[in-house]
Amino acid sequence: MPTLTEFVLETLTHPLVGRLSFRYGAARVYPEGYRTHIAGCVRDGLIRPTIDTGVLGTTRSELPAAAFVMEPRPGEVHPMFFHPHSFDTSGTNVFVKTTLSANELADLRGEVIHEATHALQDWERRQLDPRTAEGAAYLAAAMTRWLWGFRTFGEIVNERCSGHSYSLVLARRLLAAGTATFDVPADDVHILNGLVTTGAEGRYLYNGIRVQPRRVRHHLR
Ligand SMILES: [Zn+2]
Repeated sequence: MPTLTEFVLETLTHPLVGRLSFRYGAARVYPEGYRTHIAGCVRDGLIRPTIDTGVLGTTRSELPAAAFVMEPRPGEVHPMFFHPHSFDTSGTNVFVKTTLSANELADLRGEVIHEATHALQDWERRQLDPRTAEGAAYLAAAMTRWLWGFRTFGEIVNERCSGHSYSLVLARRLLAAGTATFDVPADDVHILNGLVTTGAEGRYLYNGIRVQPRRVRHHLR
């Protein structure tokens, strides 16, 4: 099984990510964002996949499945946390558990893309309201789950019971339409934004991941 970082990079650069191309309100999702921008930050160590709960800051009663820490300043390490239950450790190495089912792996791919979508929002320094930021991440993750063969246990009866279920139904509809790139209908954005779970407002800090290159100055002698 791959290490956590290998799994993250393999997901971000996989050909299936080519299907993740849409506008969701003010949020934008596009394949090169994952393959080039975010995978590049992981390779350069600016984004660090980890199962260390210490990166989450405050002690929570329940650990999230995953979380991207947006607060660090550009040039500082941005932790990308994953719940330890899917991993084995050996010394300082973290490996994806060999016992995960195909469904659990598809789910984990979805978590990677959810957090990478937040990373892309931070990378772009695009100010988004938390619900739109989450809605775009839920939808990209739901598309990823289907693309990797995720199966639900029976039909989704009430699609509006949660952000998770609505994003799965919406993702399936949009994938079935087969359009290379699309605008998510405003009605769907409105509904999904009303169902998603958001973190504290202050955790959505779109201040960038990389230090912006200085403008080249021409010194005249
Ligand atoms: Zn999120």
